[in-house]
Amino acid sequence: MRLTRYFLPVLKENPAEAQIVSHRYMLRAGMIKQQAAGIYSWLPMGFRVLKRIEQIVHEEQIRAGHIPMLMPTLQPADLWRESGRYDDYGEEMLRITDRHKRDMLYGPTNEEMITDIFRAHVNSYKDLPLTLYHIQWKFRDEIRPRFGVMRGREFYMKDGYNFDLTKEDALHAYNRHLVSYLRTYERMGLQAIPMRADSGPIGGDDTHEFLVLAATGESEVFYDSEITDLKFGNREIDYDDHAACRAVLEEFTSRYARTDETHDEAVFNQIPEARRRVARGIEVGQIFYFGTKYSEPMGATVVNDKGERVPVHMGSHGIGVSRLVGAIIEASHDEKGIIWPEGVTPFHCGIVNLKQGDTEADAACDAIYRSLTALGLDPLYDDRDERAGAKFATMDLIGLPWRITVGPRGLKNGVVELTSRRTGESEELPPEQAIARIAAIYGKAAAES
Ligand code: ATP
Ligand code: MG
Repeated sequence: MRLTRYFLPVLKENPAEAQIVSHRYMLRAGMIKQQAAGIYSWLPMGFRVLKRIEQIVHEEQIRAGHIPMLMPTLQPADLWRESGRYDDYGEEMLRITDRHKRDMLYGPTNEEMITDIFRAHVNSYKDLPLTLYHIQWKFRDEIRPRFGVMRGREFYMKDGYNFDLTKEDALHAYNRHLVSYLRTYERMGLQAIPMRADSGPIGGDDTHEFLVLAATGESEVFYDSEITDLKFGNREIDYDDHAACRAVLEEFTSRYARTDETHDEAVFNQIPEARRRVARGIEVGQIFYFGTKYSEPMGATVVNDKGERVPVHMGSHGIGVSRLVGAIIEASHDEKGIIWPEGVTPFHCGIVNLKQGDTEADAACDAIYRSLTALGLDPLYDDRDERAGAKFATMDLIGLPWRITVGPRGLKNGVVELTSRRTGESEELPPEQAIARIAAIYGKAAAES
């Protein structure tokens, strides 16, 4: 993309309404525009990041054997009357009446609807296990929407639902989700720690929240510092292997890590003092096992191998896709702007032309742009007729992890500059080598010659 043809409405001033850094940078970098309290348009730069995060979530869900689908945002109230949650959900639910005076709602979550789909089409234990998920907009009429997309009213969420014959199988589904979530967040450059949590209105006993440590997080968390040394990394895992998934859960949940809702001071105090941490965190996901809480009242049953009709065991599992955009910025920024992890960056690399209009510099930038594009990469070429300082400030603000700087002086010596946004370190290299380095970073076959 050439910046002169793009839509990147960068703000020079700090917006007064933004209290935390991610909200400030998302507004300044032209990623979002507020349309009403807690409701945002995703401008092109923000939309790119949202889609990259969504893509990682899809890939990891599919890898775990979960099946994508799509349910609508609007739901009939009657489904929620069956589960008893229509009244329980309270003022967070946006209730709508259609022209025929039918009660509808904008879905805050989808347990009822997925249970309805299941009961309509599944009859036998032979069709289990089954995990269906979708990534869809949700609405919760939060009393205090704030911090930009971190606590919106309309937000984008992945929610998945497992259906199993037995509690044991459903707990395997729970463990499988935990493993897939660890992989998902690490691919986004995040450490998200599973912490024992409270189940709230979803209901159930077993639940973990995934928290990204950040000073601006809304949750108070208590943990053993050893937990931050754990990495899932590139392990191969067979998602059908109950013992292997269980072992990962045990590894990642054996140390103390809890939110304030489940915190137990006495247990916490048994950790050596030097390892006790009290901090704040951003909830980026949650997994639940809740058994037959919905399947019983809604009649989601299957016939088991003895010919008996039994309610299925269920769980639900959410990832805050739009909140993650903010959470990643909270975890990765400096005083100049955002620093995108390679896994989610909106463009793989920036190209800065120090002297727009200079024949050689223009030609070199065009050639680099074409080579990167041919490798399947998306560069953002700042081809504006602007001072170098202004171009650098924009690149630093929007946070692309790599920048290639091209100017007449370097070109005389056959070099361009490759700069890491994270470390600020620069290196002078011939253009082909700079391209090969970017290609290698993103795992693309380097260009020949
Ligand atoms: P919170 O405690 O932050 O209100 P929740 O526990 O009610 O969230 P869940 O039902 O667990 O939310 O939803 C799954 C995920 O969706 C959460 O982990 C979070 O990342 C995201 N999420 C929930 N509410 C919002 C919101 N208002 N804005 C943006 N993302 C949200
Ligand atoms: Mg939650």
